[in-house]
Amino acid sequence: MNRVYRNAAIAHATGPRLMLDQTIHVVDGCISWMGPDDESPDPDPSAEVIDASGATVVPGMVDSHSHTVLQGGAHWIDRIDDPTEVLLAAAEHNGALAYGAGIRWLRDVGAPTRDDRAISLDVRDAWRGRSDRPYIRAAGAWVERQGQFGFTISVDDPDDIENAITDQIGNGADLIKLYIEGPDRETSTWTVSEVERAVATATAAGVPVTAHATNLPSVRAAVYGGVSCVEHGTHIDQDTATEMAKRGTYLVPTLGVGASWDTFGTTTTIDRFNGPEARSRLEARKELSYLSLHLAVNAGVTIAAGTDFGGGSLRANHLAWEVECLVDAGLEPWQALASATWIGGDLLAEPSAGRVVIGDSADFFLVHGNPLEDPSALWRVWRSD
Ligand SMILES: [Zn+2]
Repeated sequence: MNRVYRNAAIAHATGPRLMLDQTIHVVDGCISWMGPDDESPDPDPSAEVIDASGATVVPGMVDSHSHTVLQGGAHWIDRIDDPTEVLLAAAEHNGALAYGAGIRWLRDVGAPTRDDRAISLDVRDAWRGRSDRPYIRAAGAWVERQGQFGFTISVDDPDDIENAITDQIGNGADLIKLYIEGPDRETSTWTVSEVERAVATATAAGVPVTAHATNLPSVRAAVYGGVSCVEHGTHIDQDTATEMAKRGTYLVPTLGVGASWDTFGTTTTIDRFNGPEARSRLEARKELSYLSLHLAVNAGVTIAAGTDFGGGSLRANHLAWEVECLVDAGLEPWQALASATWIGGDLLAEPSAGRVVIGDSADFFLVHGNPLEDPSALWRVWRSD
């Protein structure tokens, strides 16, 4: 693909200002030149010249918490048990939705298994080399202690932790996902030393470990056990936030999940989302997650943006919603976009992900408006192709 995008604004999301009057040359899918319009070399005769005036180039976004083979919606938990062919069809739909919404990377943090291998790993492998699908880095299956769900890997004896982690890595997992949460919200299902054992095994193989943790005991076990990232982190206290900053632990807050449950109060008749009691429960959860995010940000924790689509109720093209939620919670719009682009790339240890750089793949999309000041611009996609 040879293209020249003329006269665009660029939102690199490294500060609050757009770069104006920019031209980007793309040769064979890579950015060969980028700079001010009046310094642009003549386009190659074979190049398609696109008048991008009035549009803003945004780095391809990174959804740092996604479940590629699951479809989300108000019955997202039931959908996990769908037959394999339904899950694979959902993945294809999700891939097209995400790509069209400007998402170029999916950090997949858990999928059901078939023959003990997570389905997401097959999808990742099948999409490799496709120019109409996001790149995937996938965790494989969720690993639980004393599993509560049929669809996870249950480690019933702590002496099996190393084997469970090694199995996931042997299956081709790019990262390990621990599920640290039990029915009892006052205790963590993993002890700190058990998390440490999982982290030591994975780290020895060069594979990072992340953890689903919402309540405080689970978040603390994850952080002090040495995971590289906390998923959700609904309840974080000051000490834990300070420790996360010290260790460089990322936080992916997935605020959009609560926001979507809020909409289900008017779009469904499901008890869990309706009535005054549900409303006040949701409001309390939102307050707690915003407070935790404030503590983390003020302590210096790095925030990456993820929707939890599929494993939660959002859909694969909803990362803009999460960016809006991060802004609602107090991040500057450009910082929230940074969380959805290059910070997600850093979390994946993929240096070109979420960045628009000469010499790298032309993984960007174009919107109308300035997403460095107004996250709703991310919904106004003009081109993502
Ligand atoms: Zn999830």
